[in-house]
Amino acid sequence: MAPDARAPPRVPQAVLRPPEERGLHVNEVFTSIQGEGRHIGLPTVFLRTMGCPLRCGWCDTEYSFHEGGWVAWGDLVAQIEAPGVRRLCLTGGEPLIQRDAWPLVRHLLEAGWEVSIETSGALVCDEASRIAEDLGTEARSRLTLSLDVKCPGSGEAKTWKEANLTHVTSSDQLKFIVADEADYDYARAWVEAHPGLPCDVWFHPVGGTDGTLLTSLAERILADHLDVRLGVQLHKLVWGAERGV
Ligand code: SF4
Repeated sequence: MAPDARAPPRVPQAVLRPPEERGLHVNEVFTSIQGEGRHIGLPTVFLRTMGCPLRCGWCDTEYSFHEGGWVAWGDLVAQIEAPGVRRLCLTGGEPLIQRDAWPLVRHLLEAGWEVSIETSGALVCDEASRIAEDLGTEARSRLTLSLDVKCPGSGEAKTWKEANLTHVTSSDQLKFIVADEADYDYARAWVEAHPGLPCDVWFHPVGGTDGTLLTSLAERILADHLDVRLGVQLHKLVWGAERGV
């Protein structure tokens, strides 16, 4: 029987057993415009890692599950620094399954960079609080945790770790990808059950740019008096659903 590319094991074995030397399993490195969230519109170096333990039904980066290879620390830092843009978005896949993801984040923050981490919300980001303790609040303010709270339409809604809320600050963001009415109702109920969040909450239409979904989301947010941000994926408006942008 042909193997099902979406079936377990969900994480490439190489990610589970990294080499002794430091580095990351990398799918791609590219420079583009940040398409969403706090840094929308700003030039950014993107580092997309390999592997993800989740399988969201609408995932648009399935190619990152298995494509790529090991890049040693020195080569990786050189690739990231080459464009001369001191802003990194660490994305995936799920970057935080990689042993050296947080050390890379620390390294760049210590060097004065802005760093954002796009993570599924299925892993507890307690290291962000340790960074605040070790490097100070100014460095922590240059770190953005972009945490997904998965809606039912993703098929992964049970993976959210509520403990993440003890580690978010005003520089972070929570993101709901909304595919339909049921997702919107879930997101709205979640937000209403969590008053006083310290960070922005974004509602995005699945796919990033669907006009009908955007309109209905905007109307529901206004009608329900929700204090959340409506988001698009700017890079898809500029370049379409291309890879590496
Ligand atoms: S967490 Fe992200 S990379 Fe992983 S399956 Fe979901 S959308 Fe895809």
